[in-house]
Amino acid sequence: MRFDEAYSGNIFIASQQNYAESKAVIYGMPMDFTVSFRPGSRFGPARIREVSLGLEEYSPYLDRHLEEVPFHDAGDIPLPFGNAARSLDMIADFVGKLLADDKFPLGLGGEHLVSWPIIQEVYKKYPDMALIHIDAHADLREQYEGEPLSHSTPIRKACHLIGAPNVYSLGIRSGMREEFQFAKESGMHMHKFEVVEPLKQILPTLAGRPVYITIDIDVLDPSAAPGTGTAEAGGITSKELLEAIHLIARSDLQVIGADIVEVAPAYDPTEQTQIAASKFVREILLGWVK
Ligand code: MN
Ligand code: MN
Repeated sequence: MRFDEAYSGNIFIASQQNYAESKAVIYGMPMDFTVSFRPGSRFGPARIREVSLGLEEYSPYLDRHLEEVPFHDAGDIPLPFGNAARSLDMIADFVGKLLADDKFPLGLGGEHLVSWPIIQEVYKKYPDMALIHIDAHADLREQYEGEPLSHSTPIRKACHLIGAPNVYSLGIRSGMREEFQFAKESGMHMHKFEVVEPLKQILPTLAGRPVYITIDIDVLDPSAAPGTGTAEAGGITSKELLEAIHLIARSDLQVIGADIVEVAPAYDPTEQTQIAASKFVREILLGWVK
């Protein structure tokens, strides 16, 4: 784990060496040990950084430049391959330190289970938090083949921890019938298939609230983001996801952190998935870090 230490490896474009003066910290979680289908998201963080070099540092959407948002790329947390439980503990420790230092944690996955320890740490600091979850999948399973530590479970765990009525899932188009029943009966807010329109309804109700936002790249249609382990036909465009990011940027939400997960570069020889993800990272830095 690197904080002040000069890190000479692959870093996100325009990131600054100085941890102390940074408002946001990018960190990678190279973990894909619990995925139900195709592995490979452990290589997501590194490749998102590498292709970020092709990005402009200026956003014409937000009329803001990355030099206006001091952020530090801490590299990847050195997770022990194959040990999910210890990896989650290490992520919790790392994010806990960022939150104690009043940094905006911007995590790169990795599989979606990495969001679970982050949500736990964020909840300790912001007990009145809400969660916005943008994904093709409900991720509401109690367990997968008997295993509660699975990338199909983090939102179920979050509902138990922070209260289902504080959880907002958008873009969902895949899950077991039981997951959709849980969504209905638990009081959580699940919006199927679409992201932008439901977000317009939700944002005014969350004004002033601390909100953590987790984005699973597979919410995009596989034509826009084939580089993911569990691709689901029928998704949104990259333009729609950008619009969602900008709606949140212009809202009264207090965004307290975010992650982008499930980028698996090996399934996308065109690299569009990781190139899109790196643009979302830029827009999140410019739009959500106040
Ligand atoms: Mn997911
Ligand atoms: Mn998903």
